[in-house]
Amino acid sequence: MAPPRRQSVQVSVGTVRVGGAAPIVVQSMTNTDTADIEGTAQQVKALARAGSEMVRVTVNTSEAAAAVAPIRDRLAQLGVNVPLVGDFHFNGHKLLREHPSCAQALAKYRINPGNVGRGSKRDPQFVEMIEMACRYEKPVRIGVNWGSLDQDLLARLMDENNARPEPLSAQEVMRHAVVTSAIESAQRAEEAGMRHDRIILSAKVSGVQDLIAIYTALASRCDYPLHLGLTEAGMGSKGIVASTAGMAVLLQQGIGDTIRVSLTPEPNGDRTNEVIVAQEILQTMGLRSFTPMVVACPGCGRTTSTVFQELAKQIQSHIRHRMPEWRRQYEGVEDMTVAVMGCVVNGPGESKHANIGISLPGTGERPIAPVYEDGEKTVTLKGDRIAEEFQDLVERYVARSFAHKDQDAEVTDADVAVDA
Ligand code: SF4
Repeated sequence: MAPPRRQSVQVSVGTVRVGGAAPIVVQSMTNTDTADIEGTAQQVKALARAGSEMVRVTVNTSEAAAAVAPIRDRLAQLGVNVPLVGDFHFNGHKLLREHPSCAQALAKYRINPGNVGRGSKRDPQFVEMIEMACRYEKPVRIGVNWGSLDQDLLARLMDENNARPEPLSAQEVMRHAVVTSAIESAQRAEEAGMRHDRIILSAKVSGVQDLIAIYTALASRCDYPLHLGLTEAGMGSKGIVASTAGMAVLLQQGIGDTIRVSLTPEPNGDRTNEVIVAQEILQTMGLRSFTPMVVACPGCGRTTSTVFQELAKQIQSHIRHRMPEWRRQYEGVEDMTVAVMGCVVNGPGESKHANIGISLPGTGERPIAPVYEDGEKTVTLKGDRIAEEFQDLVERYVARSFAHKDQDAEVTDADVAVDA
């Protein structure tokens, strides 16, 4: 059973709800030059169709700010409604002031309190961004990042720490500074007129233990919705493991209302991987369901051929390919589990626990593959067409086992995905 969520206010970001009882939202960020209208619109479309429920774009120059409204228009032409979030640093106050169309087209502004300006410029520039958000009735995310922590605040906390009879370690002061920056900035935003239920907080760091300590402290000190993520998570398996390790501990404590997995893509790699990983974290923890899960054993010395790996891969891609159509047609199909197992050791048992499962023959076993549906053996496949026949059985299982939806129901961006 999913753990109870921490109580927070609910914030509306365009059509998406964050916090309160709303499902944990998956978000992502583009890595195109925002001034490239077509390139950015196409990447937003790909991210939305992979399942990203909000997409953040960098707004760092006048050209980027000028491109935001045309990107929104282009997305409308492409049938994509996903809310766009603007990521501002250093000059956000000026860009929002000079580009009203950008201020209007964005559904949320991300403000980094460590990067709004130095010294005497910091407070007025922060307040100007908040006033723009109030004028356009937009929520904000106050997003602290330890790589760009407010240096004045850090210096103040270091001085206070040095005056203590038993000073804290530098790491503890840094963690405290990150949390304080987020909380004090939110208070300043409210003093400048921002509504309490239009503020989301994040406090990103790159270390897992720091992330857990900081978000645990943040969660106990406020009721703003929290955006979770490890910053600079890294590439490939390292980025996935670090993000999962940190976020899973927090999510299990009910902390986190929206998540992003900040993976560094391979050169020319697929940006949508970060969306799939975020969905898989939530789904494997039982917090949300996005697509049927394929349970596959790792294989061992009892599976010396590649038949089993090929079938597991084929079934996984078949499900991803069919999911947009299934989601439109069938109620609850995303909760389905399909087992693809390599031999008789655990195959029948695991297959019985799945909605539908197949136990392939291991080395030296009879070349037959029993199929189980809802815990009962229904058929035994053999021959060269086991993969195709099993796919057909999965199709028939879905059609038979899940209620048909009302075809007039609202269609989401993810529903119209071709191949997530
Ligand atoms: S189910 Fe069979 S093939 Fe798969 S890991 Fe277990 S023993 Fe090995």
